[in-house]
Amino acid sequence: MRFSLSRWLRPEMSECTVCGRMADARSNAVPVPVRHPAAREILQQLCMGCRSSIPWIGAPVCRYCGRPEFCPDCPRRQDKQMAFCRCAVRYDDRMRDMLALYKYRGSERLEPVLAAMLAAAFERVCSELGGRDAAHIFQAVTAVPLAEERLDDRGFNQAERMAVSLSQWYGVAYLPLLQRVRHTEKQSLKTRRSRIVDMKGNFVADRDVMGRIPFAGVSRFRILLIDDIYTTGSTVNECARALKDALAEAGVASEPEVYGALWARS
Ligand SMILES: [Zn+2]
Ligand SMILES: [Zn+2]
Repeated sequence: MRFSLSRWLRPEMSECTVCGRMADARSNAVPVPVRHPAAREILQQLCMGCRSSIPWIGAPVCRYCGRPEFCPDCPRRQDKQMAFCRCAVRYDDRMRDMLALYKYRGSERLEPVLAAMLAAAFERVCSELGGRDAAHIFQAVTAVPLAEERLDDRGFNQAERMAVSLSQWYGVAYLPLLQRVRHTEKQSLKTRRSRIVDMKGNFVADRDVMGRIPFAGVSRFRILLIDDIYTTGSTVNECARALKDALAEAGVASEPEVYGALWARS
């Protein structure tokens, strides 16, 4: 650790994980909408500027996708495989930069910060399901898988990393239940309609991993799905379809429910 005069003079100050500036006690005036102590602590280490610039989604307007304003997409969506999902923040320029720094430039220090932010979406899902004890609400947490070629380039799946953090904090088993079937072109090159069509049949559930879900005595079977960005919702929808089909086929649950927690809503 490099020597910091202000740290030496004022030991109650610490360096902000995001920007590196000193965070002081005044930062605590900016509230953090997360209850879990480990996640709170991570967010409380951010400076006042970084903390106050997080565009939290305080009140979702769309009950399905968690969008914080009127949503023209969900009411007309015919095929809803997910129960609902919630997103922690709006995907604005700052959030886009932060995610890019982590995903493409490998800034590992941001990983716990992103996971701690995602915790806000997860806790909202739990409270809307009427409870605070995540371990009793969900049988497993899983993540949207990356295409293999992208996994090779990047070396990690950001959604999986975030899901593992949540699993550890809230005591819900993490299982890599999903696999990608085939590669689709980079999504950003496509129109909304062709993206939705292309996603069909893109994911399958891994039967061996499915066998590790603790089933006994479960009245309602719920799985939580994690991803970083919600854009059209087609990715989470197709993942939910693959999970539900596989669970029903394997006789695990006749009507399993899949919920989503995503880091940002674009
Ligand atoms: Zn900062
Ligand atoms: Zn919506």
